[in-house]
Amino acid sequence: MDFLHSQLRHVEGQLAFVSVDPIDWKFYVQVISWAVTLFESYLLLRQYPLYSKTEPPAALAAHISASDFEKSQKYGKDKAKFALFSGFYKQCLDSIMVQFGFYAWSWTSAGRIMGKFGYGVEYEITQSIGFVFLLFFVSSLPTLPLSVYSTFVLEEKYGFNKTSPGLFVADLLKGWGISVVLLTPFLWAFLHIFNWAGDRFVPWLMAFILAFQLIMVVVYPMVIQPLFNKLSPLAAGELRTRIESLAGKLKFPLTHLYEIDGSKRSSHSNAYFFGLPWSKHIVIFDTLIQQSQPDEVEAVLAHELGHWYHLHPTKMLAVSQIHVFTIFALFPAFLHAPPVLASFDFPKAVAAHPPTIVAFLLFQMILTPLEAFVSIGMHAVSRHFEWEADRFACELQDKLSDEKMSDMGDRLGRALIALHVKNLSTVWVDWLYSAYHHSHPTLTERLKGIESFQSKREKKKL
Ligand SMILES: [Zn+2]
Repeated sequence: MDFLHSQLRHVEGQLAFVSVDPIDWKFYVQVISWAVTLFESYLLLRQYPLYSKTEPPAALAAHISASDFEKSQKYGKDKAKFALFSGFYKQCLDSIMVQFGFYAWSWTSAGRIMGKFGYGVEYEITQSIGFVFLLFFVSSLPTLPLSVYSTFVLEEKYGFNKTSPGLFVADLLKGWGISVVLLTPFLWAFLHIFNWAGDRFVPWLMAFILAFQLIMVVVYPMVIQPLFNKLSPLAAGELRTRIESLAGKLKFPLTHLYEIDGSKRSSHSNAYFFGLPWSKHIVIFDTLIQQSQPDEVEAVLAHELGHWYHLHPTKMLAVSQIHVFTIFALFPAFLHAPPVLASFDFPKAVAAHPPTIVAFLLFQMILTPLEAFVSIGMHAVSRHFEWEADRFACELQDKLSDEKMSDMGDRLGRALIALHVKNLSTVWVDWLYSAYHHSHPTLTERLKGIESFQSKREKKKL
């Protein structure tokens, strides 16, 4: 532990200039955030012309009808236009908030509201929680029209929207309610750890974040998801039998098998699993069950169980711990840095003793460029995992010595194509756009991968 702390102090020493030099951090944040927005717009402009192609890629030509292809191109074009507009709109909002001292205003306002109830500045944690909610609530209002447009105009136009205005408002209120219920104790504990551990906060905070993530793995699907969707046990029948037998052969600790009414809000479809190492639950969207045959849904599940077999969720969690550690290791230099707060228009008295939460949020803004790189790296890892899970499904028959699974690759391919066509997903993708935005390989890449796993297997047999 002492070695860790001496290394962390070394990092802090290297960054000591942050707490004394009068750097114009506001200007830096403006330049960097605009650079990121312009880069994302550039990616959209690279991708845009591909929506005007009149023929699907050769590998897909046999599987997608001309009318579906045309519809998916139009949908992609509309989504790209919307993404371009909303990217600029959000960036303008953020820029205005940073330029005109919105963060400082939120802090002072939270203090003023507390003062009305007789609480002074000595209640820093209470003020911090008020500050976060004020910031979150006021800044989310101007982006509300974007989600209304996306749901009721864009998705509606292509027949995906199943949300009624009443459900939309109920979801929004539930979302806010859940944020208050979860975020309040989280922030309270987060800030208490800083107060209590002082400069030795890194390992304690890491342990706390990990514990919180693990608790959410259990709480989210059991408590939060049911507030939005109905999970019901999958009806007995061919699909249930197939999945139970597959899980049994792989020794997957399946406790519950659910069908979820994803179609209540949208016709996009999917399947996933969750739970603790000794008790797992599988959830399948009703839309997936409706559009694919039981043996194809089984292949989708074989892919999902590949994620479990290769410990992908655990590996992702480990990667995210490294990410969190990097953020915490860099933070101490910004924790007691009056010039940072001063450059974002905080009053002198507040800047002299920076409140932890304020320092942390400003530090997060300063980290924006690093986060863009982290997300590219995370996507690369995730795409590798997808490839590995596809291979797992294709090689299942060897693993389980079950001849009935010899066509698993074909079935998975058919299910992926059906999912893709029904969701009108983009078929022509620019590589740079995809590297930045996509956590999954493109459909063409996956079909090619499946084909090569199959042919390698056959060669081995000969
Ligand atoms: Zn996957």
